[in-house]
Amino acid sequence: MGGEERESTIAGRLRRARPVVGDRVEIRELPDRSVRVEAVLPRRGILLRGAFRNEEKIVAANVDVLVIVAAVADPPLRTGLIDRYLVAAWRGEIEAMIALTKVDLPYDEGEVARVREIYGGLGHRVIGLSLRTGEGLDELRGALADRVTVLAGHSGVGKTSLTNALTGRTDATGKLNPVSDRGRHTTTGARYMDLPGGGALIDTAGIRSFGIAGVAADDLQKAFPEIAAAAEDCEWEGCLHREGEDGCAVEGAPGVSPERLASYRKLLSELEELEAERGAS
Ligand code: ZN
Repeated sequence: MGGEERESTIAGRLRRARPVVGDRVEIRELPDRSVRVEAVLPRRGILLRGAFRNEEKIVAANVDVLVIVAAVADPPLRTGLIDRYLVAAWRGEIEAMIALTKVDLPYDEGEVARVREIYGGLGHRVIGLSLRTGEGLDELRGALADRVTVLAGHSGVGKTSLTNALTGRTDATGKLNPVSDRGRHTTTGARYMDLPGGGALIDTAGIRSFGIAGVAADDLQKAFPEIAAAAEDCEWEGCLHREGEDGCAVEGAPGVSPERLASYRKLLSELEELEAERGAS
């Protein structure tokens, strides 16, 4: 087999699996001591970027934990965003935790207790944090030790400060950085940073949202385990639990909060619109 043929085979393999941040790869050291990526190893824990409807791109691979960052105040706590990120985590088979920042500010304690109850009840770890006082940081550091983590959250919730606090760096400015620390294979804006206590943080600053567009409408309820459980009592197989649906057992079922059901329905109609667009084109 000629060298040229081998080159083209590797190039072909790389075209099919272009390395992304977090990938594990097979490398070969060349006579000039440079290193060549020969193959991308199978991935798990995948996050997709959801900017373009039918064109989802992998942002990061081999992610163990998605930490959903939301502030208890300023900006106001909105569980719809948490639920959207939980769908992305479910889709990528990634464990999700919730970090509630700015607990040093005045906030609605009843609302926060309810958020803790809803998501804690679903098995997600919920950690209250203040980057001003340092409250909760050690707990979060402990939970992320030796694991590969991505932080998700909208601007203003303190994601950049949290990134700096966890990595001990001050240059995580949140600006789009197209070159990763571990190589020049990525143009997604994600970068891989080692954590002082072991493990790593993949900074995805510059990526607005993670993709859920490829989730089929009738699969969405799998990302809402309490809704899927209540759905066993729906009269019709294939019930999608829309508002006012005949014979639907989900609305008012114990364990299904109105907030989560509203999030589910909002995402369902979004996905159905996308499906309709795809069908029409
Ligand atoms: Zn139903």
